Amino acid sequence: MPKIYELDRHVADLIAAGEVVERPASVVKELLENSIDAGAGVITVEIQAGGMTYIRVTDNGCGIAPEDTVTAFLRHATSKLRGAEGLDAISTLGFRGEALAAIAAVSRIELLTREHGAGEGVSVSLEAGAVSDISPAGCPEGTNIIVRDLFFNTPARMKFMKSDRAESSAVATTVLRCALSRPDVSIRFIRDGKTEYHTPGDSRVDSCIYSLLGREFSAGLLPAKSSDETISVSGFVSAPAAARGNRSYQFFFVNGRPIQSRTLLAALEQAYANKLPSGRYPSCVLYVTTNYGAVDVNVHPAKTEVKFVSDKQIYDCVYYAALGAVSNSEFGNRSSELWDGKAVAETSSYKQAVIKDSNSEFPKVNDSNSASGDTAFRIPNSEVPKTGGFKSMSADEYRKAYGAGTPSAKSESRGIVDSVFTKSGDSNQAIEYSAFHIPNSAFSNLEFRVVGETLKTYIIVEYRGSVWFIDKHAAHERIHFDALGRSDFEPMSQALITPVICRHGQEDAAILLENANLLESLGFTAESFGDDAVAIRRIPSEINIDDVEPVLSDICEQLRHGGTPSPIQRDEIYRSIACKAAIKAGKSSDIRELETLAARVLSGEVSQCPHGRPVAFEITKATLDRGFKRS
Ligand code: ADP
Ligand code: MG
Repeated sequence: MPKIYELDRHVADLIAAGEVVERPASVVKELLENSIDAGAGVITVEIQAGGMTYIRVTDNGCGIAPEDTVTAFLRHATSKLRGAEGLDAISTLGFRGEALAAIAAVSRIELLTREHGAGEGVSVSLEAGAVSDISPAGCPEGTNIIVRDLFFNTPARMKFMKSDRAESSAVATTVLRCALSRPDVSIRFIRDGKTEYHTPGDSRVDSCIYSLLGREFSAGLLPAKSSDETISVSGFVSAPAAARGNRSYQFFFVNGRPIQSRTLLAALEQAYANKLPSGRYPSCVLYVTTNYGAVDVNVHPAKTEVKFVSDKQIYDCVYYAALGAVSNSEFGNRSSELWDGKAVAETSSYKQAVIKDSNSEFPKVNDSNSASGDTAFRIPNSEVPKTGGFKSMSADEYRKAYGAGTPSAKSESRGIVDSVFTKSGDSNQAIEYSAFHIPNSAFSNLEFRVVGETLKTYIIVEYRGSVWFIDKHAAHERIHFDALGRSDFEPMSQALITPVICRHGQEDAAILLENANLLESLGFTAESFGDDAVAIRRIPSEINIDDVEPVLSDICEQLRHGGTPSPIQRDEIYRSIACKAAIKAGKSSDIRELETLAARVLSGEVSQCPHGRPVAFEITKATLDRGFKRS
């Protein structure tokens, strides 16, 4: 049996350092957190060579008393936690008391610090964790810490470092997250002598985002807010049209701490279900605030992950914040033209409303950076929800508040699948259109003119001084899709004189028959037809006979795993039916059909097809005038 020894302090520190200090970015994160915990309002971070040779963090925080400077570098030395009770409610970023010890163990450090109100400061030098010099020093109030030659004494660790460029961009991301987490702190980041970021520290989320992520990103954001008794969520989420090809712009903060969380990510993305094509992801800057007891931050050495006491509650809050923002903007975010120049004035009353409604600083025009007076943020032009301080809602409440744009009278939703209506001036003759009928009154306030159809695909509409192009198939498809998902949806089906016989084999036949009720609710009547086939006697009236088999095979795919279909599987089924039921591009349509579609789109009822592509596109008169050099 080998003998058991206690590790000496230096070895223990090195092992601990490995957990906390993985790379330069982790050093920067710990030092920044210390500065924030010290109450600093202004912090500068400077690095050279990706942080491998030089990291400096300077703050104007409370400073460290000379007698505490050496203690601060001991493992488990902290001013932020006394007893175990405190662990249940951590309000500071640090508390484990290991960062300075861990960093010192693997680098050369110079610390210069002066307490607030103290006559002079102190300078401390350390090498590989051992103090090599300590002396009084004149310096400004606050703390300045320089970390040189990271991992100089741990060559094994050094080998894991990537290129300076990779390390440097990891540091930049760390600073970015940290700066976003605290709009009230002005943070400057200097990389190899060049200032990369400089946040104003004016407590405004919008100016903070703008200074870090730029105009284009800011312009794609929508304000988001939600709260319940114990949690509040606020910030911004991206308009569907501003989605990106990856998740690198999803920023979540819980009680001021940048964190990564599958729960929050899933909640955000669920709010965009059916609004984004696959492979596109929403961005966000969302701040979750809750009582400190509701999150456990002590589950990860670098504290980048947290555990929520109630995952479900936090999920809901983030989900509804994002969903509210996206739904509000349904109509408003289709075209960037809308947010340019003149159009901004038209939306300013909404903006005011949002500011009042969200009861916080954002959103606001960022005058300093915009010569033309454009807003830094895209403000939706639809109405603010009248729910006051947007609370978590049940699905039903949600449907009521945000459901389809048209008032949900049953006749109207049924109207979507009506396949017969009467042409004016020809009132005795019922004519078949593969279209839907809706009462005009629903859109009587809309004044638009359908100019015509082009390329057998796009409806051209004149509306509010702009020209709109509407993708007729995409718009129709979305309307069907939404109708299918409504709880009061009633299918219109047509009886087939000769049933369609689906011969997809025993397995599929069994699936279809087991789900006969579900099929019925969609407008299909399926009956057994031998062992391996099913006879379809009724089909949704807007579906072509030729499309019955492909749709049913899509449906089988979704139901193959048995049990009640999940919401995602249901959506897939709806998508398949909606796609087949919608009028096709490439076939010219009747003007009445086009008018009805245009009305529904312009009313704001739909803005993306079920695959997340936009359904409409606006060209303002100003754009046309510019093109013709009239303005
Ligand atoms: P923790 O942050 O978990 O307490 P650290 O090792 O990061 O542990 O820091 C140890 C202590 O040193 C802190 O608790 C704090 O009292 C002090 N300290 C570190 N950095 C600063 C700073 N920039 N300004 C003031 N005090 C600091
Ligand atoms: Mg710390």
